[in-house]
Amino acid sequence: MIDYKERFVQWLDQRVTSAGLGTEDTTSTVDPSGVFWLGRLAPEKEAMAETRRERRMDPCSVGIRFKPAAPGPWSFQVRVRARGWNRITVGSKDLDTPEEWAKSAVAEETIDVTAHGGMRPTDFGAELLTSALRRVGIGTATAVVQVSDESWRGTPELVVTVVNTTAESGQPKGERYLFEVELAVEGLPTSPFILESLPDSFRYEREMQALGINCGVEMRGTTFVTRDTVVVSTKRPTFRFGYTAEDKLDLSFAGLTDDPLPRLRQLVEGYAQWGQAAWSPEALARLQGDGPAWTPEMIAEADRGRAAYEAELDRLRRGVAALESSPQLLRAYRLMNKAMGRTASRRGITSWRPFQVGFLLGVLPSLVEGRRDWNIVEIVWFATGGGKTETYLSLLVLAVFHDRLRGKHSGITAWSRFPLRLLSLQQTQRFADALGAAELVRREHRVPGDPIALGYYVGKSSTPNDIPVEPTKDNPIDVEDDTMPARFNVLLRCPFCAARDVSTRFNRRHWRLEHFCSAPDCPSTGEALPLFVVDSEIYRFLPSVVIGTLDKAALISMQAAMRGFIHGPAGRCRRPGHGFTYAKRGSRPAGCLVPGCKDPSETIKSHDRAMFAPSFRLQDELHLLRDSLGAVDSHYESILDDLQVKNTDTDPPKIIASSATLSGYQRQTSTLYGRQGRVFPALGPSVHESYWSAATPGILRRYVAVWPRGVTLEWVSDRTITVLQQSVRRLLSEPDVVCAQAGIEPVHVPELLDLYGTNVIYGNTVKDVEAARRSMGTQVDVNPLNTVSLTGQTPFDDVRTAIAELDRPPVDFDERVHVVAASSMFSHGVDIDRLNIMTVLGVPLTTAEFIQTTARVGRTHPGLVYVVHKIGRERDAGVYSHFQAFVEHGDRLVEPIPVTRSSRRVLDLTSAAAIEARRLFFHEPRSERLKLTTADLLRAHHRTVVTTVDDETKALREMLGIRDDEHLLDEDLRRAVEIYFAKLNDLGSGAKWPHDILHRRPMTSLRDVETQIPISDD
Ligand SMILES: [Zn+2]
Ligand SMILES: [Zn+2]
Repeated sequence: MIDYKERFVQWLDQRVTSAGLGTEDTTSTVDPSGVFWLGRLAPEKEAMAETRRERRMDPCSVGIRFKPAAPGPWSFQVRVRARGWNRITVGSKDLDTPEEWAKSAVAEETIDVTAHGGMRPTDFGAELLTSALRRVGIGTATAVVQVSDESWRGTPELVVTVVNTTAESGQPKGERYLFEVELAVEGLPTSPFILESLPDSFRYEREMQALGINCGVEMRGTTFVTRDTVVVSTKRPTFRFGYTAEDKLDLSFAGLTDDPLPRLRQLVEGYAQWGQAAWSPEALARLQGDGPAWTPEMIAEADRGRAAYEAELDRLRRGVAALESSPQLLRAYRLMNKAMGRTASRRGITSWRPFQVGFLLGVLPSLVEGRRDWNIVEIVWFATGGGKTETYLSLLVLAVFHDRLRGKHSGITAWSRFPLRLLSLQQTQRFADALGAAELVRREHRVPGDPIALGYYVGKSSTPNDIPVEPTKDNPIDVEDDTMPARFNVLLRCPFCAARDVSTRFNRRHWRLEHFCSAPDCPSTGEALPLFVVDSEIYRFLPSVVIGTLDKAALISMQAAMRGFIHGPAGRCRRPGHGFTYAKRGSRPAGCLVPGCKDPSETIKSHDRAMFAPSFRLQDELHLLRDSLGAVDSHYESILDDLQVKNTDTDPPKIIASSATLSGYQRQTSTLYGRQGRVFPALGPSVHESYWSAATPGILRRYVAVWPRGVTLEWVSDRTITVLQQSVRRLLSEPDVVCAQAGIEPVHVPELLDLYGTNVIYGNTVKDVEAARRSMGTQVDVNPLNTVSLTGQTPFDDVRTAIAELDRPPVDFDERVHVVAASSMFSHGVDIDRLNIMTVLGVPLTTAEFIQTTARVGRTHPGLVYVVHKIGRERDAGVYSHFQAFVEHGDRLVEPIPVTRSSRRVLDLTSAAAIEARRLFFHEPRSERLKLTTADLLRAHHRTVVTTVDDETKALREMLGIRDDEHLLDEDLRRAVEIYFAKLNDLGSGAKWPHDILHRRPMTSLRDVETQIPISDD
């Protein structure tokens, strides 16, 4: 049974599509060629004068491409339908007399066609069609059916189109166009096309029965019909069914807190039983069905699929064994469940999804003796919205507890990086909530060590690097300014008690920017919440989990206090509330980062420093680390690993990542981290069902591909918003009519108004978003229309206000936000169940971004997504042509991720960073005065320890992960080091500071590189 929300979505889409075609309009006061964006055909004569690209933007024909099943000749019927518009009254210039247009009745004609192999484009039915048009009063336009055989793929391919052949004349444009054009082909047996861009797999339907030309194609029985939009509905997944159904298996937080082992054993045994059936030869034979026999490649792929399943099962069994063998780990696991259960209960969630439990089990063997698979990058791949963030968090919280129980009482356990400039507030909040709950559980269970805290490490782009004593040119933050702290509130609610009473204040005594909660019964009792948002405070307190943007890795060449991210600080200031200390500098003589503090500090013993080494680095959205960003990051990853290994004698952190796409991850992990990657979960033999999830009949999202014809993208976007807003408002003004039309009960009206009353417009660039918003202001005739922008440029406070309001809208519809204009900043971690309609302006550059972006709508209720193609672009035209596969298998479509680390241009940028990182984190802690801040000190040090060019080159080569066979890189590096030492030893060079000696300044952000360099394996 179709859900009333699905019916409403269908009804809304029908409203928009009708408006695009003009099906319900019979008169117009303006030329219809400037109004309708679907179903229209431009006159061929005029279209031919345009470039190919422009012809695509206002096509003169639509049609279908077929592969006939039998050799020619072929006889079949082509039915054409169309309407026209006639100008009845010529308007006066002063607009006193408006223009008047009237639409014709539908003209319809069926034409018999016989085609033969190798047939050049041949016209059929010119007279029949033109007289059909004249019969309904269309005075100017003419049309023809054109058929040809294009055999360029080796076998015959028939192309059948209807072309607007109207001659050039002085008639108004709208009279020369055809509207609501439809072409149908009947009686032609065909064989399917194989979609080449999908990997050759036994799992996927790669066949397409016919290809649309400038349009989509629908099959009605044996008839092929052109469609003006391509509609693809994805199915909502379920996670609890079969072996893991709720009534069979208890995966509740409470159950896994009390007694996890029997439940986990049952989960894993269920997986074993499922696999025995699902991967059996009989099951695979069923999958093959009546289709063509599998190729050897497909059989080999099925074998690999089964092997991956078996390895995963084995890993899960070892995960259970790890818990059985380590009481410490088991205790940490239970504490984690208690903490995660506490935050989940606020959202009404009481249990895990099986795959979340499974993923964590698979990582556990790395945490016990033997550290099995420590060097493997574990990648969470799951349909967005499936609970990926909580999966991450379960690991982080577990790792924090495990660290505490094994004796690590301070320092960073994990550094979690996001590839964007700005973290979403909702994402930050989820981390804060989980760690806040962990801290409360820690207190209750008297787990030793520092409070469990979160560091928000994005400094400068949205929170400060440092709070200066007085504002400076570089850092204008003013501690005297009472409004300053409020600008840096990164929380939407209290992580302890969920109250929305969180504010910020500056604590002068401890020199801290504190978040605090003023709710009367909050467990924080008004004390600072365990959250650090200023870089220098993160160094001072080394919170258990640090989240931030990837760019910050660049600080490794500049910030001596980054030591806290590698091998621990130098000491701890004796003055309470000051925290850890680092290398001494002129401005901080004792190494304490609190301005002016000269108190002595307790040194941290070298043995203890290894304890500070983080256990995990997390990388969200791994697929975004491509091109130059990926290349540069690969070197920084090597630098981080090398420093940790050399300074602590421990392994580098284990890397956990998430990815929205499944293609190319092996190459990516090996390039970025020099390690093997592994995706969880292993795919089942069927794309529709695995042990972990299965498709339900319910609609997740209705995707509608729109090819705007003859009008601008903005026009289509404005009209779409107008129709959607007008339609949803009719729920208020005439609920009975809407309910009757849509087939829904009036009782649902308030809910539908709530769920479908806000539209998101997504632009790929901030420029697109602003253009759309401006255009909307003048073109969307709906009042009131409240809009907000959510882009990387939106001030923090405005983002918070907007999200809070979207989450809890005003009661009065008129006061709500009606349109959200958003850019990529919105595509990550914004989870608002009320957002269910989106218009995407132009196909995003990567499939991953498309998946992520559109996943922001329809999270809990059926969603509606318009993808308005920038059809002039080749990529958009390509996506339109296989839109169904793009939506259904987007995450598996082959989209090679260009990433390389062997680039001399990249090395030129990163070698300066590596030299500086070695100075700060390797040489300085080993120098006599623990200080290498000037060229003189540096020269003296290298003379004392007798550093040679050979030694340093070798060390840097290891640090940057340059392989032996990369001779050019090796030579470049050696030259850089030679010049470095030559300059250092040249007393006449005038070099005063260490960076004066470098061949270039290190990058200040990994993002700096993006626009600068093209990357190739040179
Ligand atoms: Zn509170
Ligand atoms: Zn101090």
